[in-house]
Amino acid sequence: MGVFKCALCGNECRGRRWTVKGGKKICAECSKKLDKEWKYSEWSKMSISRIKTFFDEKELIASHGTCSFCGCRIDPDSANNMVLSDKSVICGSCVESMRLAKPVFVTVEHGPGYEYKEAADDPMPELTLQDVPWVQREAAEERERRIEKYGSHKAVFIVDDVTKYQKADDAHQIYGRVVLGRIDKGDTLRVRRREGEYRKVVDWIDPQEFNKKARYLSEGYEGNLMVQGDVSFIYPGDVLTVEKI
Ligand SMILES: [Zn+2]
Ligand SMILES: [Zn+2]
Repeated sequence: MGVFKCALCGNECRGRRWTVKGGKKICAECSKKLDKEWKYSEWSKMSISRIKTFFDEKELIASHGTCSFCGCRIDPDSANNMVLSDKSVICGSCVESMRLAKPVFVTVEHGPGYEYKEAADDPMPELTLQDVPWVQREAAEERERRIEKYGSHKAVFIVDDVTKYQKADDAHQIYGRVVLGRIDKGDTLRVRRREGEYRKVVDWIDPQEFNKKARYLSEGYEGNLMVQGDVSFIYPGDVLTVEKI
């Protein structure tokens, strides 16, 4: 085991090494830093340029202070902050205000066994600061159309599937997307059936890997709503609503 140059920190290192897509080597110190950002060594399947872009943007967001569009203070821990193609930094709420016009496309690739991979294709980072007002307008129009269709609620969620959550007893994950509003932990989901209305409280939110820091699920995003107890009354295709308090 000789000395090697780490592709991320650039230091001359020895000892254990990891590789990323393309065969570039990563030192033990950097592998720990990467494990904090991605689960299951997902980073080892990424190119070094993609990893560097991620950290550059993270640093840019942390140093930026205020949103380039609305001027509010940027919370560096917010999941939805974003760097646009012109290097302007916009806050999570500005991103969320545009999401209905620029949804994320999520694909899940199944591998052998239980292994699967979520890939997200987000059109929003291609925008520039000048695009924000018209995209917000488009999203607002789309929101109006959805309110007409589903009625006025705190949130509307469409169920894709309901599966048992293996890591906890009697827990299920309801996977789907928020078509309107936002769902927080503690919200009560309602579904109407012929025999009446059923309710279920959201215990916690399990967002997608690409959006893992999110503590809530906002409009235009997909994710898992985690619930406990009986879910036999919730089916794929159901429209779940959360009422305004
Ligand atoms: Zn390193
Ligand atoms: Zn903003």
